[in-house]
Amino acid sequence: MRLRNVKGAKEKIIDSPYVIHDIENYKGHFKDIFENDNPIHIEIGMGKGMFIRECALRNPNINFIGIEKFDSVLVRALEKIDIDIPNLRFIRMDATEIDTIFDHEIDTIYLNFSDPWPKVRHQNRRLSSRMFLTRYDSIFKDDKRIIMKTDNRHLFEYSLIEFTEYQYHIEKLCLDVYNENMIDNIPTEYEIKFHSKGFPIYMVEVRKTNKK
Ligand code: SAM
Repeated sequence: MRLRNVKGAKEKIIDSPYVIHDIENYKGHFKDIFENDNPIHIEIGMGKGMFIRECALRNPNINFIGIEKFDSVLVRALEKIDIDIPNLRFIRMDATEIDTIFDHEIDTIYLNFSDPWPKVRHQNRRLSSRMFLTRYDSIFKDDKRIIMKTDNRHLFEYSLIEFTEYQYHIEKLCLDVYNENMIDNIPTEYEIKFHSKGFPIYMVEVRKTNKK
């Protein structure tokens, strides 16, 4: 998703109290931003932020950080914040650097409708590739938990293989979120679009337990 030339996007991002700008000051201490010890969940590639906003509203005892690569997309998420949501923040960054930003402090990663990068030569760019799973290792606090949704069957199958070969085990798997009565499902912008076109929405939750 790339919205071009959103006028004033940079300024709106700089001015927003919801965007963490000085990220290098918080490595290992992101809880200081929220001033509590609640778990921190992140969504990588959050797009316009509908999912993470709703997660934050429904779960005030969890802190949420949305990560997005493009100003022009992030600004759309900021525009949706019309009430105070103290447990929500955003970072504008490319997730290839995620392991330089966080240090053993994240509880859950959401990957929603990640770019599928269909060409094999681009597979390392997929957010569920081994390349990214390695980066995620040092950002998780205790157990590693990833929850993924997508409409893309190929990306889904590829991710299941990557997760299990990287020693994650599958805790939940759903081949059609809307036919399996997932009552607490929070939709994303892409999900609404693809579901309305009749595509099944796949979901998997995987976990890797830290051996003590
Ligand atoms: N998660 C949203 C949803 O489900 O509606 C947006 C899905 S959209 C297909 C993928 C989003 O991920 C885009 O907004 C894109 O800019 C962002 N993205 C892709 N690669 C990224 C990366 N390496 N780091 C941060 N954001 C990324």
